[in-house]
Amino acid sequence: MLKRAQENGVKKIVCIGTDPEDSMAAREFAAKHPNVYWTYGIHPEETNPSRHASSHPSLRGSSLTRSPLVAKCLEDFVSSSLNPPVAIGEVGLDYHSEEYNRGAQIRLFEEMLQLADDNDLPVSFHVRNAFEDFFAVVANFPKTRGVLHSFTDSKKTLHKILETTDFYVGLNGLATYSTLPTPPLERTLLETDAPFLTPTPFRGIINEPGYVRAVAEWLSEKLGVNFETIEKVTTENARRLFRFQDTDVCQK
Ligand SMILES: [Zn+2]
Repeated sequence: MLKRAQENGVKKIVCIGTDPEDSMAAREFAAKHPNVYWTYGIHPEETNPSRHASSHPSLRGSSLTRSPLVAKCLEDFVSSSLNPPVAIGEVGLDYHSEEYNRGAQIRLFEEMLQLADDNDLPVSFHVRNAFEDFFAVVANFPKTRGVLHSFTDSKKTLHKILETTDFYVGLNGLATYSTLPTPPLERTLLETDAPFLTPTPFRGIINEPGYVRAVAEWLSEKLGVNFETIEKVTTENARRLFRFQDTDVCQK
């Protein structure tokens, strides 16, 4: 997969963590591969107790308040000091199910924003049907830098993001088969969201980083901007947000 990514011009990959365990797996994977980076995230859906019954035996039975997760997070984070993440995330708010505990999500999100703040790290936000609360929470963390990954909201919300924050907006395969609003190039980051959201013309198979090229090609056509410019500007955006260095190799 990494070889195919490279053949398609993908030079750096950020492996996204969505809970303490897979964040550590992402860390381990990044340590073994040049130009692969990792993030430390706890997805908002992790506050849903039923999720833990299947995926987190260690948390089974706990009536998940923020404390156990964030305590574990801080512990793992400190042990990462020699191989730090490039961002905190995915973190955020997801209200797509009525059953989700919004209060627990907000508390977790605030803790994670504080963690990002304390470590001067950008944030990969997951926000679904929850922008009102999202704007209210991030307003309390004015130093936050980040990207709204896999943006799926309205044109109006996109405008508000562009006008009232410095956040980037993540564009992935979904854009190639939907009618979502497109952010301006200078605020766009390209992402895979693999294994989901495989772009056209690869629909129906598992997504992987190399296919991000198809998203760049789609964007080039949509904006009427040549491919090299898309490549250059979105790479610069990612570099600025994650603070990649030119000399970054497998030194972690
Ligand atoms: Zn997400």
